Order: sequence, then structure tokens, then C-alpha cells
Amino acid sequence: GKRFGRGKASYFSDALGHAARERMRMLTDLRAAFSAERLSLAFQPQIDLASGRPVGAEALLRWETDEGQWIPPDQFIPLAEQSGLIVPLGEWVLRTACQQLRRLTELGHAGFRMAINVSHAQFREPGFVPMLERVLADCQVAAAQVELELTESIAMEQIDAITAKLAEIRRLGVAIAIDDFGTGYSSLSVLRQLKVDRLKIDRAFVHELEPSNPESGIAQLIVALGHQCNLIMIAEGVETEAQRRCLLTMGCQEAQGYLFARPMPIRQLEDWMAEAIA
Ligand code: C2E
Ligand code: CA
Ligand code: CA
Ligand code: CA
Repeated sequence: GKRFGRGKASYFSDALGHAARERMRMLTDLRAAFSAERLSLAFQPQIDLASGRPVGAEALLRWETDEGQWIPPDQFIPLAEQSGLIVPLGEWVLRTACQQLRRLTELGHAGFRMAINVSHAQFREPGFVPMLERVLADCQVAAAQVELELTESIAMEQIDAITAKLAEIRRLGVAIAIDDFGTGYSSLSVLRQLKVDRLKIDRAFVHELEPSNPESGIAQLIVALGHQCNLIMIAEGVETEAQRRCLLTMGCQEAQGYLFARPMPIRQLEDWMAEAIA
């Protein structure tokens, strides 16, 4: 009866309170880790499918707590976005990734591309483009070697403002990739409205590829669409040789995934690169 109902309600509000407190604690720890420079970047190579050679890398944020626990970015990035921490954190990611790009260039990897994830909360900031320009100048990297990864839901927001900002960024020479392409509601309108350079085929579509029938899946549709629009396609989450062959056959130019390499610290990437091009 009534008593049971009340008990249930307070059980749920306690559980909600608990979850909220957990998030607050995680955010406090994240801020502390950021100030103490405990965050790092891992780099996952991006491969040209036809030649098998690395053409770039994606920078991925990593957080190891004092207790040696790795917190996945899917857990802490949303907190950083909600709290506004993503703005300074995202700038740090951009700067650190560009410094590493500079170093790779000095090691002889000319033309290597660095792909950097950018949250909408960060992209929306009025100071985003000047910040990007400043970082490129400070790190002395060629804009053409930098690519920003944005998810397609960007197009659901004020489309005119977004289009203007993207045009400004591309005028600097920086490339734009649409991340997790095909998972949003706006895929086709994104292509029509926004000028971008590359589409990242979400790994869900890569995993459903059928080697016996490579023309059956959504990945094939995305690749066909990309060719129509003169875009470069990169498949993410490629784990098997069968998937690699499928993608190559359907005309997808690039790929990224555990089949080639896991995300790794910069030192390891330097060694991996030296071997990959030897
Ligand atoms: P994402 O941008 O879609 O990144 C790809 C994710 O797939 C990465 O997870 C990567 O480690 C993982 N992955 C790579 N190859 C494979 C594979 O073969 N199989 C499978 N199953 N997974 C693979 P990660 O590093 O945990 O990052 C998760 C998400 O966190 C990213 O998804 C991105 O949305 C976000 N993120 C990571 N770093 C940053 C950052 O610096 N800034 C922002 N705004 N978001 C970031
Ligand atoms: Ca990404
Ligand atoms: Ca992705
Ligand atoms: Ca994703």
C-alpha cells in the first residue's frame, strides 16, 4: 500500500542521490588529475588501406587515477562537458596532440596527420577558432596536418553558425572529419550542408560487415555516399582481416582499429612508426 510506495520512492531518490554524489566525486577527482597533469594522450594509428601504411593517428584522452585505475573517456568526458571543464581540457588535448605531431614531423614523418576529438561544448565557444590558430602557431605545425573530429549531431544545432565556423576552420587549412557517421539522425543533411573532408564510419557498421556479402550493409551505403560527395572514408573499429578486406573491396580508403594497432603512448607510437615505414 502507501507505505510500500513511499519506501520505493525514497529508495529511488537515495539511488539518484548516490549516483549524483558519485558523479560529483568523479568530477572533483578529474579536476585534480587535470591540474596535477595526470591526464595523458594515447595515439591510435590510421592506415591507408591500399598501401597498408600509416597516414595519421587519432589522439585519445586517458586518465589513470592515483590508485592506478583507468577511467574510460566515455565516463569522464560527459562530466567535463556538463561542467565546462571540457574547454580548458580540450585546449590541453589540442596543444599536446599538436606538440606530438611536431615531434613526429621532426622525426621524419612528414605529412603525418593528427586527428583530434572536439566536443560540441568546446566547439561552440566563441573563442574556439582563435584558440586553434594560437595553438597551431605556438606548436609550429602545418594546419593541413591537423584534423578535427566532430560528431554529426553538430548539425542539429544552429546550422548557420556552425557552417560559418567550419568554413573559418577550413580556411585555416585544418581538416574536418565527421565522427561516428551514420549513428545520428542527420547524416544526409550533414553532407548537404556542411563542408567536411572525411567521414568516419562508426564501428557498429564495421562489425556487422559480412565477408560473404560486402554489399549488403550500411557501411557500403556510406562509402557510396562518400564517393558521391568526394569525401574520404575512414572505418573505425576494424578488428578482423575479413573486415579489412571487405572495406578495401568496397572502396573505403582508410581504417583504424585493433587489427592494425591499439591506442598507445607517444613513445610507443614513435617506435611503431619507425617500424611501420621501415
Ligand atoms: P571515438 O572518438 O569514437 O573513439 C574511438 C574509440 O574506439 C576509442 O575509445 C578507441 O580506443 C576505440 N577503438 C579503437 N579501435 C577499436 C577496435 O578495433 N575495436 C573496438 N571495440 N574499439 C576500438 P576510447 O579511447 O575509450 O574513447 C571513447 C570516446 O571518448 C571516443 O570515441 C570519443 O568520443 C571520446 N574521447 C576520447 N578522447 C577524447 C578527447 O580528447 N576529447 C573529446 N572531446 N572526446 C574524447
Ligand atoms: Ca573520434
Ligand atoms: Ca568514432
Ligand atoms: Ca564514439
